[in-house]
Amino acid sequence: MTKRVLRFAPSPTGYLHVGNIRTALFNYLQAKKVGAEFILRLDDTDKERSSQHFIDQIKRDLEWLGINWDRVEQQSLRIERYREVLNKFKEQKVVYECFETSLELELKRKKQHNQGKPPIYDRAALKLDVVEKDALRDKTDSYWRFLLSGETVTWRDEIAGEINVRTSVVSDPILVKGNGQFLYTLASVIDDSDFGVTDVVRGIDHLTNTAVQTEIFRNLSAGLPVFGHHSLIVDNSGENFSKRSGSLSIKSLKEAGIEAGAIVSKLVSLGTGDGLDIKNNIDELTPKFELRKFSTAPVKFEKEVLQTISRKLIANLSVSEIFPYLDLIGVPDNIKENFWIMAKDNINSKDDLVEIWKLCKEGTNNPIIAPEDKQFIEVAITLIGEYPRDNDSWKTLTDKLNNLTGRSGKNLFMPLRYFLTGKSDGPDMKKLFPLMQKIQRYGLS
Ligand code: GLU
Repeated sequence: MTKRVLRFAPSPTGYLHVGNIRTALFNYLQAKKVGAEFILRLDDTDKERSSQHFIDQIKRDLEWLGINWDRVEQQSLRIERYREVLNKFKEQKVVYECFETSLELELKRKKQHNQGKPPIYDRAALKLDVVEKDALRDKTDSYWRFLLSGETVTWRDEIAGEINVRTSVVSDPILVKGNGQFLYTLASVIDDSDFGVTDVVRGIDHLTNTAVQTEIFRNLSAGLPVFGHHSLIVDNSGENFSKRSGSLSIKSLKEAGIEAGAIVSKLVSLGTGDGLDIKNNIDELTPKFELRKFSTAPVKFEKEVLQTISRKLIANLSVSEIFPYLDLIGVPDNIKENFWIMAKDNINSKDDLVEIWKLCKEGTNNPIIAPEDKQFIEVAITLIGEYPRDNDSWKTLTDKLNNLTGRSGKNLFMPLRYFLTGKSDGPDMKKLFPLMQKIQRYGLS
């Protein structure tokens, strides 16, 4: 049996967002599932819009999510190969030279629109003779289109089932632009063929593209991969998420403290009948992953849900998963476990642990003491005692205060919380107090 190969092929012209990460995930998990090779292919033939900055960020984002690749391919390094194939296509006369400017094409489309016709390229360039072409070549850079058969292309889609697309409903695709830039349509087919890609999973917006590319594959005499087209993510108003929806970039979600596991878990449950199964490690998502589970209808997604999932995921982290992070922020070994038990239900992101640890280590520098609590806090200060404390410290303190001041319940606890933490809410004081190494004794004048 031949080795299966999958790829994720982002264009490094922007940051990865939840939409294209869903595609990455599908390909990655499918590759894991079937034991295939997984290629990260950078579709960077558009020199003006692609940049090293985006390439670096794409790699960082994927690594952070746990999507690891076996090798990287870069289209900008394969231009010679694309040229070779184009020349072959020229010899075979399956491509033809065109000269219309974008403005001319726009005018043609307008005219078609007014006549109630679909905006399909009219193949005027096919009718040009040698003399006319020579004359046009002097005036403008020519470019090349692929001559579609207009026939129906049929395939059995891994997600969408049986698909038929007549290529007469689309314009002959431009393969190389006047400035020499090879376009995705050709470059992708050559790569998929050269790298032995066996499975292509991508968004349903590529459906007609697949029909077009199938014809190009055939001209290359290349075997066809199997295709799967997944639904697209939309927001509440039904709008597609575009690359420019910056707030949903993986980078910004990470910066907002969302856990990688929350993102991948949510994205693979979207569009399936499966309930959400939150996993911290992406590879734990593989066993249940099946392309045919996904519906082709657009799926709604709201960023806010990630916050909740992320919170749940963090609270459920095992000691061995969180300890390395606690080491990083400096929580000593002997109190790590108690610190985690105290803090875990009170954080939105791991970053919040930094603040809680600072409170334990340094105390608050913003103790709040209401005028009516001043005397009470003065008494409390005399009883607080020095670190180390033990698990009974809070009970001992509050019992004594109750005896001495007669205060109880909220009247007793709230002023203490305000004084010790500077906040109205936070971790259970019974668990927090024993870990407080330093109590700021100021705030009283
Ligand atoms: N660079 C293309 C895109 O981002 C890749 C599509 C494909 O997977 O073939 O849409």
